[in-house]
Amino acid sequence: MKKENLISFVIPCYRSEKTVSNVIKEIIDTVSKQDKYDYEIVAVNDCSPDNVISVLKDLASTNKKIKVIDCSINKGKHAAVLAGYRYVSGSLVCNVDDDGQCPVDHVFELVEQVENGYDMAMAQYKVKKEGLIKRFGSAVNNKMSVWLLDKPKDFKFSNFIVRKRFVCDAMTQYNQPFPYLEGISLSVTRNIAMVPMEERNRAAGRSGYTFKKSLGIWMNGFTAFSVKPLRLASLMGIFIAFIGLLYGLYVIIRKIVDPSVFAGYSSIMAAILFIGGVIMVLLGILGEYVGRIYVGQSSPGQSIIRETYNIENENKE
Ligand code: UDP
Ligand code: MG
Repeated sequence: MKKENLISFVIPCYRSEKTVSNVIKEIIDTVSKQDKYDYEIVAVNDCSPDNVISVLKDLASTNKKIKVIDCSINKGKHAAVLAGYRYVSGSLVCNVDDDGQCPVDHVFELVEQVENGYDMAMAQYKVKKEGLIKRFGSAVNNKMSVWLLDKPKDFKFSNFIVRKRFVCDAMTQYNQPFPYLEGISLSVTRNIAMVPMEERNRAAGRSGYTFKKSLGIWMNGFTAFSVKPLRLASLMGIFIAFIGLLYGLYVIIRKIVDPSVFAGYSSIMAAILFIGGVIMVLLGILGEYVGRIYVGQSSPGQSIIRETYNIENENKE
């Protein structure tokens, strides 16, 4: 079902019992300042350890436009967002964080770009209010995405994005267990507008993204959307084999020219260790891919939904 002039706001919720109601209130206030678009809110509880689900259920009980999806296991933001996308009914879909960091009052600047013909419009934050480690992580992530996902250099993904409905529908076709929104998005469209905006500080609490979680997500994204690491592995293999061949020829020729030279133990050791190391790296990369296929085939699903509230068509998935 797709309703014109309806914006579906999708909010992945994790540890936000103190902040999410303000975010929802701000969305409602912002939308009520104009009369072209109506709103619905699809809040996804990503199995948060706090009591955000009760907050969401309370809000949903008084406002039918607030829909709640309760996941029974924490699978991270990317899976939560896709779970939300499966239940939207708007012609436009807007991602918003639950911690007040997205400047929700500027949402119509994004909507305007989509009305002008872009498939997606993304907030491009001027100053990232983040710690050093996170900034370093984002920089590495950005460079890797340019290399592995052919991401245009000037696209910088943020959490505040408006997408046309068809983009979301295509994205939900991806039902593997380790989704990576950036990669999925770029494989659907590159007709993306960047809109400069100021990111806010978190209203409360701390980021749910630890270094370990972020690392896992990069690995997901890069192995799921690119075989370039495998190609690099093969190229390395060819390069090393070529050097080995040249060295072998050199040893043979030296022996012919001067039969008295002694076959060296150290050169053999060096070659074995070097080639052994390279093989381990190659096997590791291969293992990463094979592992994902294996886990993908035996996983019970990308996200597991315990219950939904205010959603009529429960069997949509
Ligand atoms: N999030 C989630 N599951 C998680 C961790 C985070 O759904 O396991 C959501 C969180 O509720 C928020 C968004 O992802 O809406 C961004 O998370 P956070 O604010 O912690 O990250 P940051 O702002 O540091 O990127
Ligand atoms: Mg945040």
